[in-house]
Order: sequence, then C-alpha cells, then structure tokens
Amino acid sequence: MKSRLLDLLSKPGVLIADGATGTFLQQAGLPRGTAPERWNLENPEAILSLHRSYLDAGSQLILTNSFGGNRYRLSRHGLAEQAHEINRTAAQLARQAAGTTAWVLGDIGPLGELLAPLGTVAYEDAVAAFSEQAAALVEGGVDGILIETMSDLGEVKAAVEGVRCVTDLPVLVTMSFDTHGRTMMGVTPAQAAHELWGLGVNVIGANCGRSLPENLEAIRAMREAEPQAVLMAKPNAGLPHTEGDTLRYDVTPEIMADYALRFVALGVKIFGGCCGSTPEHIRAVVRALRG
Ligand SMILES: [Zn+2]
Repeated sequence: MKSRLLDLLSKPGVLIADGATGTFLQQAGLPRGTAPERWNLENPEAILSLHRSYLDAGSQLILTNSFGGNRYRLSRHGLAEQAHEINRTAAQLARQAAGTTAWVLGDIGPLGELLAPLGTVAYEDAVAAFSEQAAALVEGGVDGILIETMSDLGEVKAAVEGVRCVTDLPVLVTMSFDTHGRTMMGVTPAQAAHELWGLGVNVIGANCGRSLPENLEAIRAMREAEPQAVLMAKPNAGLPHTEGDTLRYDVTPEIMADYALRFVALGVKIFGGCCGSTPEHIRAVVRALRG
C-alpha cells in the first residue's frame, strides 16, 4: 500500500479528500465538550457512518477520527492512558469503511500545548507524544499520516520526527494560515513551504484557515515558493456564526466546488474541506472536478 499511495501522488490527476469531522459528529449528537475521539471506542457506528458518508460522496482519501488523539489533548478528558487504543481504533474504523478502494490518512493535530521556550512541553516529549500516536495509527492500518492545522514550525518538526521514528509511510503536512495570512505563530505560507518541503515530507499545504480566498492565496504563495512541491488544500467552509444554538457556515457546496477548480488550477494534488464542510460539499466538489 505504501508505494501505491506514493505512486498515486506522483501521477497526474486530483485526489479528493473528505470534509469536516468535528462539525459532522456534533450534528450526529456528540455532546458539547466531549472529545470526538472518545466515540472511536464508545460509538464506533457513528464513526463508520461519518466515513461512509464521505466515501459515498466520492472521497478517495479519508482521515481517521484522531485529530486530538495525542496524549496531551486526551489528558484533558482523562483519556491519556487510552491514547494507543483510541488511535488504533480510529485507524481500524476508517480502514473498515474504506476497504481497499479508498485511502486512509492517520490524522494528527497539534498537541494543544506550546513547546518550550514559549510553553512548557520539551521538544523530546513532543516527539514522543507524536510518535506514540503515529505508531497506533500505523498499527490500525493507515496508508499515510497527515499532520494538520499546525501553527508552529518547531512543533511540525517534532511531529515529523515522531512519525518518522515509527514508519516509512507517506507523510503529509498542512498548516492553518488563520491570522492575517500567517499562522497563529506568525509563519508565512512561503516560509512554511520552504521549511516543510525541506523536511522531506511527501505533501505540504494549507488547511482550515479563515476563508476560501485566504486559503487560495496561501496555496498560491506556497506554489511560488516551492514550485516542485506536491500540494494539498483542505480549507474550511468559512468562519461559523451562531444562529440560535447552531453554528452556521456561509460557504455553500456550490461555492466550495467553484473554489476547488481554482485550487486545482494552482496545481493542488489533494483537495478536501475542513470545518463546516459536509458530504454535500464533497459531492459538489467531485461533480465539479470530475465533470
Ligand atoms: Zn478546520
């Protein structure tokens, strides 16, 4: 499988990823404040249904439900000791839904704590936490690892190192440029492109962020900075606003599909949606790209 995903990345054609996990699970009844990863163990049917909804919509590549599955984030929910089981199960559920016809990326998000010297987490401890998560995802049967929504280049390095300790599978890294065109830690898209591609990972790009136009600008800047890089974009469906007690996102499936064409025109190899994007958004993207 490893070489097959790498092969696919080097061939022409766009791969369509999935949409949001968190907002999907909230709509499926995940109580506010509950770690989505808890449902890997306690409500696996909901996770299978999440994956199947995106696969039915045409996603060729789905993410495991493990964004917050590192020991630091899980500890806030009293789940740190179950980190291995939670991540392995996340991978097994995605694999079960995808079978051999779609690809599974083990999803790794930020630690949720700042690294020293700004924060308290030592670099080696960050590497160990990412390594623990990646090992469990690999054991559960993923085809590659996606490190996403990153803001800090130091944390990205720790994550890549942690993943590389345990597997040779493809590694994809995307950062969130949500603060005036930079990441929260001030990293520009051009700087990110140089540093991430310099780490020797297989795919780099942007995810989440604030809006489709800002994500498009980030990808354009990454493309200019590293013309050879294989790019991935997984923008959100705009920023949410509340209507009553529900969150609403302004980007419709049609708008998302229109933007998918613009991202692909910039040479993006993998396109999907982040927060607020639904199976309907992915279905519209598939229609636009496969026409
Ligand atoms: Zn997002």
